[in-house]
Amino acid sequence: MFRSGIGYDAHRFKEGRPLVLGGVQIPHARGLDGHSDADVLSHAIADALLGAIGERDIGHHFPNTDEAIRGISSLQILRRVGQILAAQNYRIVNVDATLIAEAPKIGPHLQAMREKISAALAIDVGRVGLKATTNEGMGAIGREEGMAAMAVASVTREG
Ligand code: MG
Repeated sequence: MFRSGIGYDAHRFKEGRPLVLGGVQIPHARGLDGHSDADVLSHAIADALLGAIGERDIGHHFPNTDEAIRGISSLQILRRVGQILAAQNYRIVNVDATLIAEAPKIGPHLQAMREKISAALAIDVGRVGLKATTNEGMGAIGREEGMAAMAVASVTREG
């Protein structure tokens, strides 16, 4: 059986927080606001994977009312999502994601992010695709109010 899923997430910028994307802390004047580390890229990937196996979304599995997960690394969320898939005998074929952000420059960090994400999901780095684009100055992302990410995931299960 072969299945695919889609994920989307967005977070606002907030002063005084570190910017963490794909598990990598990136130097920037502001970070993203959220209950966890607000890693918008990892969240979109987690939702794509959960969607691929017909599970409920990241907000259900990791609710922002749960004090136990306040400030946790979203790599930990990806690790747990990988375990949810494995427990149902699914294997990840690939994930692909696009980060939409006006700034900072993401390109220099993409490879480090791929390595962190693939390690968290226990898959080969070649199974993780990451890209970044700006929103050409348009809308809320263009005004640098926050960032968004989109992801797709494909999974397979024997039998
Ligand atoms: Mg999120």
